[in-house]
Amino acid sequence: MINQKSVQLGSVRSVIRELFEYGKKRKAEIGEENVFDFSLGNPSVPAPRSVQNELIKILTEGDPVLVHGYTSAQGDFSVRKAVADYINENFSLNLSADNIYMTCGAAASLTITLNALLNSGDEVITIAPYFPEYKVFTEHAGGKLIAVQGMAGTFQPDIAAIKAAITPRTKAVLINSPNNPSGVVYTKQAVEGLCKVLRECKERGQTIYLISDEPYRELVFGGVEVPYIMNYYEDSIVCYSFSKSLSLPGERIGYIAVNPAMQNAAEVYAAVCGAGRALGYVCAPSLFQKLIARVLGTASDISVYSTNRDILVSALQSYGYEVVKPDGAFYLFVKSLEPDSDAFAERAKNYELLLVSAKSFGVEGYVRVSYCVSTDMIKRSLPAFKALADSYKAL
Ligand code: PLP
Repeated sequence: MINQKSVQLGSVRSVIRELFEYGKKRKAEIGEENVFDFSLGNPSVPAPRSVQNELIKILTEGDPVLVHGYTSAQGDFSVRKAVADYINENFSLNLSADNIYMTCGAAASLTITLNALLNSGDEVITIAPYFPEYKVFTEHAGGKLIAVQGMAGTFQPDIAAIKAAITPRTKAVLINSPNNPSGVVYTKQAVEGLCKVLRECKERGQTIYLISDEPYRELVFGGVEVPYIMNYYEDSIVCYSFSKSLSLPGERIGYIAVNPAMQNAAEVYAAVCGAGRALGYVCAPSLFQKLIARVLGTASDISVYSTNRDILVSALQSYGYEVVKPDGAFYLFVKSLEPDSDAFAERAKNYELLLVSAKSFGVEGYVRVSYCVSTDMIKRSLPAFKALADSYKAL
């Protein structure tokens, strides 16, 4: 018999994918323009012009063989150095190339990091709502994901609840800010509170690693600050991706940054390299490694996300929806108009609105609206949101 856990994982689609497939079918039936598809988190703005320009330069000016050749398993040295220098410059830190491991996006950064840190039965605490793949990644690394609810209404970390969830098996806390699916940016105060708890554990002899999943770092509105965890806690690892900041999700490029201030940084980095090797995640896409070194610090024009957010938030509030105003990412968390968010999302389909029930994100009573879509679609969808709200008033 082959591995049944893998068979199961490969046979069951995620709720998001299921909805996306439904949307494709529905668009074929009634026309693309009549379906308001808010299911996926696929960037809707192009990569910056510099990405295209630099890619052309690399392809036309570089060595035609080397440009597609293998790099070192952990990534090209000059690329890793450029990433380390960029982090140092922006966050006043002291990383070297040997603290950086280039990856195929945040998904790979996370699986490698979890496999590097966890022994069988170790626990990883995360804050709900959370990206559903965390459970898959953690369990595949032999661990157990423990979800602690965020604060009601704000979805900021509940520090007391996290403290209460720590056991002798806790190996890591995994956070994601700006958050998918809530769009919430964790405050400096919340990060400090969390790090204080982790430091107390360290003083009692238990090292708990803080992993920060950061595909949305640059996607913030109104100059909101996203605290950089290495400035708050030594035993920290950043899992970064360029998928959203540069609108390059299909190119699979990101990195892991291990905080050099942690006592066993060299050992943790060796474990990252070992896990990358064991998982077959060596030599991240060579062309895109080279590109990254040239475009660090640039990001897609996210003004359309900000416009979409403002239109949606004010319209939905005026129709009577309760929303969590997002400071970042491109997701809006909306309280469902009945306790069961699955039933609410199902009912929304009658109005051709494709909203993701938040149950798979570990939270009851909310849906996620991915507003990385055209502003035109947002505007056309508003009557449907109103009709959906009105249908509950009529009950
Ligand atoms: N983490 C979060 C919170 C995400 O939302 C996503 C993708 O949507 C990922 C990780 C995976 O990102 P990547 O495409 O870089 O693998």
